[in-house]
Amino acid sequence: MIGVVDRDFVRIGKSKIHGTGVFAKRAIHRGARIIDYQGLRVRKEILLEHQALGLTSLRYVFNLNDTEAIDGEQEGNAARFVNHSCEPNCVMYVFDETPYLYSLRDIRRGEELTFDYRLRPAFKKRITQKDKLAHPCNCGAEHCRGTMIYTRSRKPSKILSE
Ligand SMILES: [Zn+2]
Repeated sequence: MIGVVDRDFVRIGKSKIHGTGVFAKRAIHRGARIIDYQGLRVRKEILLEHQALGLTSLRYVFNLNDTEAIDGEQEGNAARFVNHSCEPNCVMYVFDETPYLYSLRDIRRGEELTFDYRLRPAFKKRITQKDKLAHPCNCGAEHCRGTMIYTRSRKPSKILSE
């Protein structure tokens, strides 16, 4: 079944988490490959040039590896609209340089699909508080860490307490 992606799993709609989201069009079993993350494959330095040229906002970039990314805003599909959650029902796995969204558990029809973005800066290594504050999370999960930035701790973030 490698390479076969059933896009019939999903529909796009208005999200309670953020803007546009992706929802289960029908019940999805745990471990199902739901959709691949399409977009322009591009070196990260080039991506910054594209941003400067107004070709992309960098809002839908999937980090492939140290040098390459996939920009869902350019040539992307519905996968770019899957929102972040700190307690997601899906996970993104990369096979042969292509990210695929898989269900982590059984998902009911109509549920919003999410994965943990684990955002990291494109180039610099250290994550600062400023980075975390710049990418707040509104996923609503019980153990929301308060930021879409990847932190090792799953505990709620201190810096974002009300
Ligand atoms: Zn969260």
